[in-house]
Amino acid sequence: MHRTVTSDYDVAVIGGGPGGIPAAIAAARRGKKVILVERNGYLGGAAASGLGILGYLDREGHKALGGIAQEIVDRLTRMHGAMGHFRCPVHNSITPISPECFKIAAVEMCRESGVSLLFNAELLDVQVRDNHVCSAAVYGKCVETVLNAKVFIDATGDGDLAYIICPGRTITLARTAQA
Ligand SMILES: Cc1cc2nc3c(=O)[nH]c(=O)nc-3n(C[C@H](O)[C@H](O)[C@H](O)COP(=O)(O)OP(=O)(O)OC[C@H]3O[C@@H](n4cnc5c(N)ncnc54)[C@H](O)[C@@H]3O)c2cc1C
Repeated sequence: MHRTVTSDYDVAVIGGGPGGIPAAIAAARRGKKVILVERNGYLGGAAASGLGILGYLDREGHKALGGIAQEIVDRLTRMHGAMGHFRCPVHNSITPISPECFKIAAVEMCRESGVSLLFNAELLDVQVRDNHVCSAAVYGKCVETVLNAKVFIDATGDGDLAYIICPGRTITLARTAQA
């Protein structure tokens, strides 16, 4: 037995990794009502795994990434969770980070921007109307949350939202919801 709640947003971002975090922050900074849904109990995705982050510099060592991506590294540096960008012959650059600091910095930046966070919630179902995704159901901790939003951003890293709405396919991603 589980309960269902419904919430309305301008933008719903599904997935709180390096793709979803800046997307949510950018939308919130533009005054949108944003929710960021993450199946884990923390933000970060692959950036919370302990791997260094690639791609901040190009092949010649010039800055290739700025904006919110750089803001995150600047904050990590202030937290002693990063030491800057290093050139790499294989990946152009590598930016070693503390994954624990990344988790904290990501939550701080989301909160400061006004992003609502929903942790331990996995995408379960998607409703499409007139060729637009109009709502999504996420499930976690015995609660099904139905999110109505004008815009959905699939930042699951695996294209889960896109896969669910793919015509002719019916899948269930959240095994817990079946219980
Ligand atoms: C083998 C491998 C090694 C890599 N090594 C590096 C590296 O060393 N350095 C580097 O910078 N990049 C590396 N990359 C690339 C890096 O992983 C991606 O560029 C980056 O993770 C993409 O970010 P993302 O936010 O799109 O996805 P992810 O980091 O995968 O984040 C997706 C987030 O969405 C959440 N999520 C997923 N499905 C759902 C769902 N159904 N409902 C709710 N939440 C969901 C996940 O829990 C996760 O937090 C590597 C990739 C691979 C495959």
